[in-house]
Amino acid sequence: MKTLAMVCNAPGAPLVLEELDLAAPGPDEVLIEIMASGLCHTDLSQIEGKAAPYPFPVVVGHEGAGIVRAAGAAVTTLKPGDHAVPLGIGECGTCGNCRSGRTNLCERFLADIAAQPSPFSRNGQKVSAYTGVGSLARFVVVKEYCAAKIRSDVPFHLACTIGCAVATGVGAALHTARIEHGAQVAVFGLGGIGLNVVQGARLAGASRIIGVDINPARAEQARAFGLTDFVNARDGDPVAAIQALTEGGADHTFECVGSGALMAQAFAATRIGWGCCTALGVPPDGETLDLVPFNLQLGRTVKGSFMGNIKGRSQLPGLLDHYVEGRLNLKDLVTHRLPMVEVNRGFELMKSGEAIRVVVSFQDDGD
Ligand SMILES: [Zn+2]
Ligand SMILES: [Zn+2]
Repeated sequence: MKTLAMVCNAPGAPLVLEELDLAAPGPDEVLIEIMASGLCHTDLSQIEGKAAPYPFPVVVGHEGAGIVRAAGAAVTTLKPGDHAVPLGIGECGTCGNCRSGRTNLCERFLADIAAQPSPFSRNGQKVSAYTGVGSLARFVVVKEYCAAKIRSDVPFHLACTIGCAVATGVGAALHTARIEHGAQVAVFGLGGIGLNVVQGARLAGASRIIGVDINPARAEQARAFGLTDFVNARDGDPVAAIQALTEGGADHTFECVGSGALMAQAFAATRIGWGCCTALGVPPDGETLDLVPFNLQLGRTVKGSFMGNIKGRSQLPGLLDHYVEGRLNLKDLVTHRLPMVEVNRGFELMKSGEAIRVVVSFQDDGD
C-alpha cells in the first residue's frame, strides 16, 4: 500500500510531503494509522545531521499514537481498532534484559534495530524510518513487540507524548533515579523532557524540585508540573545556588539538554555521600563528560537513562492511568498543535523555545 509521509531528503533540508510505498505487515507485525505525533529534539538532530544514525532520505518521528488497522496472523496482543503507540524501544519480554527487570534495553530490539528496519520505500529504494518508527507518516508498520496497546479514552494528541517526552522524563525520575519520598531534586533544562522529570519527581514525592534554565518564562510553566524553585543560570553559578537551596547539594540531579559541560555541573550539584546525577540529554556526536574521579569516591554517582528506562509494553501504558487519575499533566505539555504539512514550522517553534511540545497530525483527532 501507499502512505503519505513527511520526508527529509538531505541533512538540513526541510521535510516534504511525499507518497511512499509501505510494506504490508508480516505475520508478527501491525499496521498503525498514526493519529498524532509529537516532535522531539532528537528528530531535529537527525534532520540536521548532527546526531544522525539513519541514512537519508528518512522519515523522522518516534512519538506517535494511533489506531491498529491490521495485524499479522501471529499477532496476539493487538487487534484492529486498538489504540496503540509504536515504541522507540521494543519489549520482547523474553530476552535476558527484558527478564532482568532492571532495564528497558531489550536485546532483541537492539539486535533488530542495528539493521535499521523500515517499511518505507520509494521507487524500490529504502527510505529510513527513524528509530524504526518514522511516525511523521499517515501509516507505519512495526513488529508487535514494538507497539504497546493503550487505553482508548485519552485523545491521541495527548497520548502520543508518552512515547518519548513523558517516558523519558517521568521514567528517569521513577525507574532510573528511583527518587525517594522527600528527596531534593534539581533539573537542568526545563524543556519537554525536563518538565517531565519535574512531574516525575512530584509523583515520587520529592520535597523540593529546583529547575535550572536560562529562559525565565520556563519558571512559570514549570510550576504547573510541580517546580518549587527556579535558578536562572544567567544570574550566576547554578551549582552554588543549588547547594545553598538544598543545604549541601541535591539528592538527585538531572541533565536534560545534552551538554557535557552541563552534565558536569549537574554532577557537581549533587550531595556528597549519595547524590546521583542522571544524564538524559542526547549530546551531539563527539561530546564527552569530564569528571574528577575523587567525586565518585565521595559517594556521588552518575547514571545514564535511555527513554526513561521504562519498559514499552508492560510499563509505558500505565503513564496514561496517572494522567486520567490526575497525577500527570499532559495538557500543559502540548502547547502547539499543527497540521502535518506545517511540521517544518513546528520544528522552528521547538527550536525557538516557544513551544514545549508540538504535536502534528494528518487528521483532526477531536478535542
Ligand atoms: Zn524523543
Ligand atoms: Zn527483550
